[in-house]
Amino acid sequence: MKQRPSFPAKLDGLKVRRAGHVISANAGSDHSPQGLGLDSGAVRARMVQLLQKQGIGDSLVLNAMGTVERHRFVDTALVNQAYEDTSLPIGLGQTISKPGVVSRMIELLRNGATGKLGRVLEIGTGCGYQAAVLSMVATEVYSIERLRGLHDRARENLRHFRLANVHLLFGDGMQGFAKGAPYAGIIAAAGGEAVPQAWLDQLAVGGRLVAPVHSSLVGGGGQALLVVDKTATGLRQTLLEAVHFVPLKSGIA
Ligand code: SAH
Repeated sequence: MKQRPSFPAKLDGLKVRRAGHVISANAGSDHSPQGLGLDSGAVRARMVQLLQKQGIGDSLVLNAMGTVERHRFVDTALVNQAYEDTSLPIGLGQTISKPGVVSRMIELLRNGATGKLGRVLEIGTGCGYQAAVLSMVATEVYSIERLRGLHDRARENLRHFRLANVHLLFGDGMQGFAKGAPYAGIIAAAGGEAVPQAWLDQLAVGGRLVAPVHSSLVGGGGQALLVVDKTATGLRQTLLEAVHFVPLKSGIA
């Protein structure tokens, strides 16, 4: 079992607070990629077991991870690795996040909610995988991507699943997406120096943000997961384990 980095237990000034429908269209069709065998569901079930061993306990998250066909979001040459706990290249220098990190972040985002979350904003659509997972644990998903090539690819990848509650946006996610605000949850798949003010403004009171941020407390200027809870009295920030994400960049390309 892979241990989560224990970094950091507690930080000065930050309170540490530890925190449907089936997405497999064309079931039974000839879409099982080579090497995955006829039943990719069994491979996903093994992946879910691994996630449980890593400490993921939210049944809605586990169900979503066991349902969304990750192999449809990666290159044909990489399908054999689709259910390994590893990030994979998705083109334009970007990566699909590790299943362990996706489930960890979404579990944190849900913060123990029993039913689905309300509206959620994802910054960094990438190939669209995490947006598909989010669509099963939230009522609406707004996902924004700054690279046109990946925005188009995500649209293509997701078309297959016909997810009426996923809204793909092309733009600079540093600005958030004010039209969809306030959000019950905001999740970033790219890490910056700090959390943009727009995200905090667009978070609902009672909502939670989960994002990788660069922290001087991580060796080598690395990133850590930051959780921000917006309460009636202000923001409560919690810095958790070290992570490794692609950089958050401004502007579109
Ligand atoms: N959730 C994605 C992970 C993609 S990697 C998946 O499941 O595949 C992170 C993505 O964030 C990259 O595609 C990158 O282009 C994007 N990104 C970085 N900065 C951004 C910004 N300011 N606005 C929107 N997307 C951004």
